Amino acid sequence: MAVSLLRRDKRSAAASLKAECSRPDGRGVQLLNDLLDSVLSPERALAEAEVIEWCKCLIAGGESFDDFCKMVCAYDNATLCGLVWTANFVAYRCRTCGISPCMSLCAECFNAGEHTGHDFNMFRSQAGGACDCGDSSVMRDSGFCKRHRSTASLNIPSVPNELMMMSEHILPRVILRLVQHLRDGYSEPVSDPATERDLQKTLQQMDPLISLLEDLTKMGGATRSILTRVLANHQIYKDLCSGDLCTGEKTYAKKNYEKYLAALKGSGLVTSKERSVTSVLDQMAGASNVTILGATAGTGQMDSSDEEEQDGNQRVGKRKRVELCNSTKDPSIMDILKHKCFLEEILFWTVKYEFPQKMVTFLLNMLPDQDYKIAFTKTFVQHYAFIMKTLIKSHESDTMSNRIVHISVQLFSNEELARQVTEECQLLEIMVTVLLYMMESCLIKSELQDEENNFHVVVNCGEPLLKNNTYWPLVSDFINILSHQSVAKRFLEDQGLLQMWMNFVSFFQGMNLNKRELNEHVEFESQTYYAAFAAELEACAQPMWGLLTHCKIRETQGYTRTVVRYCLDALQDWFDAINFVDEPAPNQVTFHLPLHRYYAMFLSKAIRCQQLDLDSLLPDQEMLMKMMVHPLQIQASLSEIHSNMWVRNGLQIKGQAMTYVQSHFCNSMIDPDIFLLQVCASRLDPDYFVSSVFERFKVVDLLTMASQHQNAALDTEHERSMLEGALTFLVILLSLRIHLGMTDDEILRAEMVAQLCMSDRTHSTLLDLIPENPNPKSGIIPGSYYFENMLSAVADFKAPVFEPGGSMQQGMYTPKADVWNQEFDPIMVILRTVYRRDVQSAMDRYMGFLKQTGKFCGNPWPPYRERAPLNPSYKGLMRILHCKTLHIVLFTLLYKMSMDHQNMSEHILCMVLYLIELGLDNLPEETVEEEEMFGEERCSDSWFHGTNIATNLNHVINYVRVRVPETAPEVTREPPASTSSDTSSFVQGSRRATALNRESSNTAQVFSLVAERRRKFQEIINRNSDNAIQNADVRPKTSKWTAPSSTPQLTTAILEVRESMLSLLIKLHYKLSGKQNSYYPFWLEDSESTSRLDPMQQSHGDGTTAVERILIKTAARSRQNKCSIEEICRKVAPPVPPKKNSSADKKALDKEERRQKARERQQKLLAEFASRQKSFMETAMDLESPDSDVAMDIGSSEQQDSETVYDCVICGQSGPSTEERPTGLVVLLQASSVLGHRRRSTEPKKLPTSDEEQIYPEDTCGTAHDVRITDLQQYFKDSSCLQSVSIGWEGGVYVQTCGHTLHIDCHKSYMESLRNDQVLQSFSVDKGEFTCPLCRQFANSVLPCYPEKSEEKSIWSPYISKTLQALIEEVEEQQEQLGMFPSVTNLSKEMESVMKDIKNTTQKKYIDYGKTPGSPDNDFLFMYSVARLNLELELVHRGGNLCLGGASATTKRSCLNQLLHVLAMHMRLFRIDSAYNPWTRLTRLTQVIDSGICDDEKPEVPLLYRDISSLLLILVLTMPQELHKEHFTCIVKVLYNLLYTQAIATLSVRFSEEERTAWKNSGKLKIMCNSDKSWEVLLSHIIGELSKGKLYCASDTDQVSMLSTSVWSPQSIEYSIQQFCLPFLRTTSLLQHHLFGDDLPNCQRTEEEFGMLASYLGLLLSSLQSSDEANSSSCLEWPVAALDIISQWCSEVMTSAESHSEQVMNLLVQDPQWSLPCLLQLPENYNTIFQYYHRKACVHCSKVPKDPALCLVCGTFVCLKGQCCKQQSYCECVLHSQNCGAGTGIFLLINASVIIVIRGHRFCLWGSVYLDTHGEEDRDLRRGKPLYLCSERYKVLEQQWVTHTFDHINKRWGAHYNGL
Ligand SMILES: [Zn+2]
Ligand SMILES: [Zn+2]
Ligand SMILES: [Zn+2]
Ligand SMILES: [Zn+2]
Ligand SMILES: [Zn+2]
Ligand SMILES: [Zn+2]
Ligand SMILES: [Zn+2]
Ligand SMILES: [Zn+2]
Repeated sequence: MAVSLLRRDKRSAAASLKAECSRPDGRGVQLLNDLLDSVLSPERALAEAEVIEWCKCLIAGGESFDDFCKMVCAYDNATLCGLVWTANFVAYRCRTCGISPCMSLCAECFNAGEHTGHDFNMFRSQAGGACDCGDSSVMRDSGFCKRHRSTASLNIPSVPNELMMMSEHILPRVILRLVQHLRDGYSEPVSDPATERDLQKTLQQMDPLISLLEDLTKMGGATRSILTRVLANHQIYKDLCSGDLCTGEKTYAKKNYEKYLAALKGSGLVTSKERSVTSVLDQMAGASNVTILGATAGTGQMDSSDEEEQDGNQRVGKRKRVELCNSTKDPSIMDILKHKCFLEEILFWTVKYEFPQKMVTFLLNMLPDQDYKIAFTKTFVQHYAFIMKTLIKSHESDTMSNRIVHISVQLFSNEELARQVTEECQLLEIMVTVLLYMMESCLIKSELQDEENNFHVVVNCGEPLLKNNTYWPLVSDFINILSHQSVAKRFLEDQGLLQMWMNFVSFFQGMNLNKRELNEHVEFESQTYYAAFAAELEACAQPMWGLLTHCKIRETQGYTRTVVRYCLDALQDWFDAINFVDEPAPNQVTFHLPLHRYYAMFLSKAIRCQQLDLDSLLPDQEMLMKMMVHPLQIQASLSEIHSNMWVRNGLQIKGQAMTYVQSHFCNSMIDPDIFLLQVCASRLDPDYFVSSVFERFKVVDLLTMASQHQNAALDTEHERSMLEGALTFLVILLSLRIHLGMTDDEILRAEMVAQLCMSDRTHSTLLDLIPENPNPKSGIIPGSYYFENMLSAVADFKAPVFEPGGSMQQGMYTPKADVWNQEFDPIMVILRTVYRRDVQSAMDRYMGFLKQTGKFCGNPWPPYRERAPLNPSYKGLMRILHCKTLHIVLFTLLYKMSMDHQNMSEHILCMVLYLIELGLDNLPEETVEEEEMFGEERCSDSWFHGTNIATNLNHVINYVRVRVPETAPEVTREPPASTSSDTSSFVQGSRRATALNRESSNTAQVFSLVAERRRKFQEIINRNSDNAIQNADVRPKTSKWTAPSSTPQLTTAILEVRESMLSLLIKLHYKLSGKQNSYYPFWLEDSESTSRLDPMQQSHGDGTTAVERILIKTAARSRQNKCSIEEICRKVAPPVPPKKNSSADKKALDKEERRQKARERQQKLLAEFASRQKSFMETAMDLESPDSDVAMDIGSSEQQDSETVYDCVICGQSGPSTEERPTGLVVLLQASSVLGHRRRSTEPKKLPTSDEEQIYPEDTCGTAHDVRITDLQQYFKDSSCLQSVSIGWEGGVYVQTCGHTLHIDCHKSYMESLRNDQVLQSFSVDKGEFTCPLCRQFANSVLPCYPEKSEEKSIWSPYISKTLQALIEEVEEQQEQLGMFPSVTNLSKEMESVMKDIKNTTQKKYIDYGKTPGSPDNDFLFMYSVARLNLELELVHRGGNLCLGGASATTKRSCLNQLLHVLAMHMRLFRIDSAYNPWTRLTRLTQVIDSGICDDEKPEVPLLYRDISSLLLILVLTMPQELHKEHFTCIVKVLYNLLYTQAIATLSVRFSEEERTAWKNSGKLKIMCNSDKSWEVLLSHIIGELSKGKLYCASDTDQVSMLSTSVWSPQSIEYSIQQFCLPFLRTTSLLQHHLFGDDLPNCQRTEEEFGMLASYLGLLLSSLQSSDEANSSSCLEWPVAALDIISQWCSEVMTSAESHSEQVMNLLVQDPQWSLPCLLQLPENYNTIFQYYHRKACVHCSKVPKDPALCLVCGTFVCLKGQCCKQQSYCECVLHSQNCGAGTGIFLLINASVIIVIRGHRFCLWGSVYLDTHGEEDRDLRRGKPLYLCSERYKVLEQQWVTHTFDHINKRWGAHYNGL
């Protein structure tokens, strides 16, 4: 029966089966199953079309599948969009509507939703995703589109059962077949390409089946719920495919099932029953690794040995991988999988096949079904460990990672679901276990501290797992679920998890250890640090921030306490494991201390938000001391790295230092470290802390008052910068309040100010640079109101501007004046700078501000800033400022400074003063007067009695005993009889009695910081005496302790000091001001002025200001200080207040200094200039813009009567250009099609953004001229045609110059030297390209200057000498002269050569228009067309008319005159046969030459068809050398007559028949009076003449009559004649201007232009110039009877008209008017372009290009870089640039919003004309914010295109090798 069904037509079979099945007897179902047995038989290949056909028909139950689809879809009531997309899809994200940050929308839902004014962006999906529209757990309902609003689905009825019945029966079998196929096709990959191909084949074969399933899922809720039932049902799975099966082919089923079991086993996944067996076996075999790597132990080990071999080549020291024996992982998570339904097994196979895209899409498409989503999520979690294990082994882990995250994001972003699987499926345990498992596979022994006795293990950052970031999907899932409060709580409450987690974190503690190279440069710069930073930030810090967001309130105190406890435990374990005692190992540093940072950040949160008591969370003192060591070591190393002490480790160490502080990471790296150090400092003994700092920075030895010292730890060259580093660190430590009391607002503000002070920033850079503070996940949301408000409070917006040099500024934010005035904080800037130069830049900008506002004119010091109040918990920190150790250091440094000791610097003084001032601002709370109190006895008590800085400032130190080398000057000094009380107290200070006698004096000055610190440490250790074992463990310290720096050459000397810090400060004031007695306390001067006491007023200034401020503060703090200051000042100075004088002096000094500087600059410039003159090789002065230098003005030089003198920019000599040694202009020749793109209409064309809009090229100037020349060539003699038009509208050669000249022989040697220059140039010397040696403008040829003969330039007056008739004869005579070859000179050779260059500039197709290629007629046409093009372009550059012609500066540096000479020289070589010379026909009545009716040759082109401007150029350029102006005028006059006739003829065609008759008659009446100059007469005559033929008949019919809608009046006739003539008058005027050098006239109104130009050209008598009267006909001057010659011209047309009656109209009607060239008009919003073009298919290859681009000149859409549209190695974009712009192309890259410009073989990224609301570009649409057209920029682009200045203005050019 089934067999017979198979043979039937599928649809009818399906229909009858459906009928059978609906009967209750079940016979139909049996029948169906039989049929399916055969259709879905495993023996049949899945790829067979039949199989899918049958499935489709059966499911549809007799309908066609498409109809079935539609029917089911109609019942779809799904409220979720769920559209699944893959990588590179363009999607949207709306922060206003999103609940989860991962939310995304498809374009359709986004556009159909309401998001105006929302904070949204577009993005390109990287891993793929799915649309969340309709899912209220991920986004707010208000953002749903209309389709997916829940109400929309209410009235849709549910699907009738009957419709879905067949699917219910068939789908289980389909799924079974899928699983069978997957089982059959699988074979374990053995890194063998063959098996991989097999897997690919298996996947390919099942493609149709998966597509079918995908179609089903898209039909809507009904099919999805059937599929869900099939996939998730345990019974169905058991019935169909577990071991004992029911179907007939048992043997197959069994084999098939065994394959599945084998695959399970091969993956190391076994059921617990089987597992017990294997483990017994393993034990028997004695496999020791089983516990670590589970069943995969064997392969695991193989891997490791392989990799070690690979790494061996690179790593210097081979590091053995360590395997932990007490692994924490739970085998039930890692190793066991048992499948109970289809879904589980299908996911298993999906993993096995490494996530094939199709399967992923199918699985995700099912997600809108809620039951499925839950079941699938559980299944995913069940397989989680297996997935990650597969990922580690995968060889395409990138793709796989993306696919995994594609799935997991959909599942875990939903809080409810995440919580459910956390509770029911142990999600957290699984994740943490898998993380541990992953990292355990790449552990090595830590080498930190004590290499031998180190038991700590860390991850090896060189392992692929870390290098390739393979763990990221797991970490990103983990972070994702921790963002859900309920899940995070669960984690924080589970102590077991926390412990495991700290264990995990400690794997990163101390990783990537750096050891300072002291001798040799490292051979191999390890790049592992990327991996290390990535690992700490992603795997440690991100989860930390996730957890911290849930510890924000008092109620969560408990969580914080637990975390802190486990963290401290882990730290304790770590110190034990690395065998740490008290001293960091020298010369090593690790930047990775995640445990410290966890501790620090939880501590900060606890104090800030949870009101926890700090002390209750702190460990004991010993632990605190240990915790401080490593972060401090990092700070010292930073300073070492910046002092170049780590140069031998290569650049990478700088990279680490920069990464550590940079703004993306600082809140997870340096900020927690500084905070932890602040906590330590606030609780530890201040003397201990301060001495530790100086010891770590290795500057203890430097802190001596002796003038010489030795330093065992540091080279002298590093001392200064290390001391600077130490002091700067202290200042940062004491003034930073980020975690100590600043509010979020204040932090954001401070960060913003710091970044803005370094440099003006664009909005996006600023967003990028501001650390999300204090908590990355909950802090500032980019673009939030919060951020924007703050920004507008501190910064001003500078709108995007364009500089003349062409560099385009984006919209920038710059600090407000008030910010500079009050908020600029150099400390914050130092903390946040990655590059040291940024600090300088901030200071420079600060100085600029002070100068500009007149606040201060000198070189300012970094201003001192008041700090935000300290959170009381950290009060103890301020004790650092009031400790004797610090005061001794400060005293010593002030002293050294005043004594000019070496290695001191202004920066050091600045920091010292800063510390003193901080101390004065933060006096201890006890009484100010505590001088009398003696503290406990200490070694340092010999210096000061108390600890209050205000008191200690005026404490006088009399003598100090110093240790100096014997050579030091101090040695000679006699010790005074009684030294100060200092030394006596020392003996008890230290326990080291032996060393003390010698050391004690030393202690007096530096008081042996080291010893002091150690003593403190020992004390504390002893206090915790229960830690006896540790003490016993300590290595022989004493031996190491004893005077490590003592060297025999040192001797003791007693130094007489007799200074206090106050007296030193006053001395330094003198020093700084450069004037003795410069300080005088103001209160003595004017006791009433209390206003001066306000220190804020004195915040800006230099060192003297700082000293003054401190003195004022000191005086204010205590009366005694005030007195001391007075006394000191009196002692050294008479009571003359020198203040005012001093500032005046300072000004004078400043002035002198400035003058000096100016002199130096001048000297330098002169030297530079001299060297430039000597040799051109050293002229690399990069002048930004050619306008800025003093180029010669060629235009003006022409006008000089004397011989022109040119300067050679190469050899520097000046002289005229001669035949023997010609000079030339530096020129750039380029082909241009700009004019060809002009259109008739003044409205620019719009860029099409829909399929309806189109651009047709028909109406462009280029096309119109092409059509005309083709038409002419069809009917007239070729050589004549080639003289009747101009070419070059497309591909003509434009010549421009920078105005600089050089000897041509100099140029040649210059080129030679460029050719030999190995330096990579952005231009190609072989193509003749170079840059002007003077202005660096791009050029490619040299145009010779024609030697001028000055006597020709006599003043000329039009009507004095000759009549028109006489002149006509002279012209004719000269025309008749034979073209003479000029004698061959250097000059003529160069002229030929440049002509060659010009020709080679453009493509052949733009030269050869003739029918015989290569004929001289072509050359002739080409040459005068070059002149024409350059004239026309100049006209365009002047704005299209000459109303303000003379005023325009755009064409200042024209080379037209020289160009005309070159062209003329070549054109004169062509002799125009006198018989065909148009001159005769223009000026004489000739016998009707029966032009060839009998001849088989075609006739000449009638004069009325000819282009007048071309005729002019032909006549002018073929005249003999030194054209006289009177002849020029004569030619113009003669041509004007013809032009006028053409105008009238054209006009007459536009008339309607009636009008024509009317005008014809009215003209006849006027024939009497002055008929030659009456337009009416002429019009009437022409109409009469032309009516003789059938000419007008054609015109009345078609489009011409359309024009004549209005009635013609005399005024409108005159107007249109003028318009017709103006283009000719304009180019002719320009020509005259360049030929004869006379100034162009100008006028105010456009109506005056005609008259003005006519009189300029001598057509109008100057007396008639009152231009309103200017009448086109009054310019006529006929050499012969007007009507006769007109008749002659008309008859030329008539005789030939028969042959081309069709074209007569087109040829006769010339319309020379074109609007200015412009680019396509772009839409306001970029999205309009993007949405249409990013999915548009190319017309050539009909594919959607990967990189679509758009020509902005013509709108052509091309495949950038596409192989698809490549023609003979030219990619489409380059090809188009040649066809559309003769080598110049302007393309908008759709996917990047950027414009590229192609110029010949080079290209450059021009920038974008679309900017966001902050005036910024968004290259590559990374931010995806809405972009708007910046019309100013677009204008600039258009301007550069029209003026051909791309080459000059844009700087970064590169070769494109035709690959764009
Ligand atoms: Zn959608
Ligand atoms: Zn939607
Ligand atoms: Zn929205
Ligand atoms: Zn020269
Ligand atoms: Zn130049
Ligand atoms: Zn184009
Ligand atoms: Zn294409
Ligand atoms: Zn293509």
